[in-house]
Amino acid sequence: MITYVLCQIRSVIREAISPPATVHRITLTRTLYLVHVDGALHRVRRDRVCNCGGTPQCPCPAIPLVQEYLAAGGQRPLGRHEDTWPDHWLRVPPLCPVCDCPTLPDRYVNSSHGPGWRCTFDSMHYWMVRMNPLRRYLAAHPPRPRYPWNGDSPAKQQVWLQAHVHPPRIPAECAQAEDVLVPGHMAPAPEMLQLALSTPA
Ligand SMILES: [Zn+2]
Ligand SMILES: [Zn+2]
Repeated sequence: MITYVLCQIRSVIREAISPPATVHRITLTRTLYLVHVDGALHRVRRDRVCNCGGTPQCPCPAIPLVQEYLAAGGQRPLGRHEDTWPDHWLRVPPLCPVCDCPTLPDRYVNSSHGPGWRCTFDSMHYWMVRMNPLRRYLAAHPPRPRYPWNGDSPAKQQVWLQAHVHPPRIPAECAQAEDVLVPGHMAPAPEMLQLALSTPA
């Protein structure tokens, strides 16, 4: 009985200790996973290419550890801070300004900001960089609802509303029809119906 209890306690302790051991082996920079394996430091990019030459097709010992770390709910690198993203560029940046993965030229998204490119890890990264000036402008100049009296005092707003309230307008022909029609005396309708029925024959 005592040995059973001891075994249980040992397994519980092992479970409690083992996950942090794998988590602790991996640290993050803004764009990389840093993995210490057997005293060597592997710098793994977000597209799972390692500086030691490992790739997803031909992984080095660090890449499966990164996969385990992510499967266990580990954090991903945040990416470079948006203040470092360029607003304009003369040439296609060789590395993505967000995640440092390689880029490819993409002439279909050439723009006034510079020649178009695509991040090989996540194609959204181009649009994050491309739209950042607009996003910053909107943050600095938030759109406001455009009423004619926008920014006026409440008293002036009330005056404007009173000056612009009007009774519902009725078009002239509708008003005349209402004058002619007497309730319960819909004279034209049956004759029109007979005409409509007789004309095709
Ligand atoms: Zn490696
Ligand atoms: Zn990227």
